[in-house]
Amino acid sequence: MPRLFSSSKNATPALSSAAFIAARLFAIGVRRPFSKSRTVERETHAPAAKVARLSDEEAYDTFLLIRWAATDGAPVCPRCACAAVYTYTTRKLFKCKACSHQFSVTSGTIFASRKLPIRDYLLAIAIFVNGAKGHSALQLSRGLDCQYKTAFVMAHNIREAMASEADETVSGEVEVDGGYFGGYVKPANYKENRRDRRRAVNQTGKRRVVVVMRERGGRALPFVFKSEDASLATIASRVAPGSVVHADEAVHWDALHARFLTKRINHSEAYSHDEACTNQAESYFSRLRRAEIGIHQRWQVRISQPTRTKWRGARTIAALATANNI
Ligand SMILES: [Zn+2]
Repeated sequence: MPRLFSSSKNATPALSSAAFIAARLFAIGVRRPFSKSRTVERETHAPAAKVARLSDEEAYDTFLLIRWAATDGAPVCPRCACAAVYTYTTRKLFKCKACSHQFSVTSGTIFASRKLPIRDYLLAIAIFVNGAKGHSALQLSRGLDCQYKTAFVMAHNIREAMASEADETVSGEVEVDGGYFGGYVKPANYKENRRDRRRAVNQTGKRRVVVVMRERGGRALPFVFKSEDASLATIASRVAPGSVVHADEAVHWDALHARFLTKRINHSEAYSHDEACTNQAESYFSRLRRAEIGIHQRWQVRISQPTRTKWRGARTIAALATANNI
């Protein structure tokens, strides 16, 4: 299970990623898994509605089950991992018998110090993870009927949790490719003032490449770099030894042959040949492009670089997190 949602000061895994929560919502009967089958009832595609119908008590019990999935909802001290706790009858609080630490169901998670009802946070996750091409904070604020700033922080917290899954590796058949995002240069108004925007001298220098390692039938790991060849060390550390790597004809991917069995596809000749293709990686970028244009409108370099954000020590990259949502 991925170790997510827990802040670094906590020794124990606190709560897992938004995708995992969505899976748990399914497991406990609130959400069913996505199915392409048209025979599946329509309601299976609207888990957010099911979350919205939960009472406060049901939402609380749901959160207990999600947070402490390993103990079937029984609280565990987030400070010392002790399972023996007192439960207060007057407030929704617990106290550790070993270290006397008082904690709630959200302590140590990204939802600590919450102001909204727990159901709203579950609803935010259900809405957010269903947005295959990302979800904007404004749209979230309209859906949850909360302030834009509240939705903005909440969306970033969910992205933070998703981005922390990037500790994982991929294996088997892995497709590697890069897509360029951000650094848009607007053409000048008058024709005589327009420049060739393909030339480096006329670009902003803010364009970045998102390199994705996409396991066939598995997960995708995206990272942001200045250039594709800067991603080689990351690929070496994130793709398990013994994997088969698929890449296109770009020369900097030649270095992959030294480490992996690498299959190349020359896109000027074919998109798929002799079992070599990067179509799944391209499909990923197709959605990421739609996230950029259709949801975010514009990505700037300051959010597409791996910088620490001010939200609880997050190391979220907006592009990366949006990518994880796909
Ligand atoms: Zn304790």
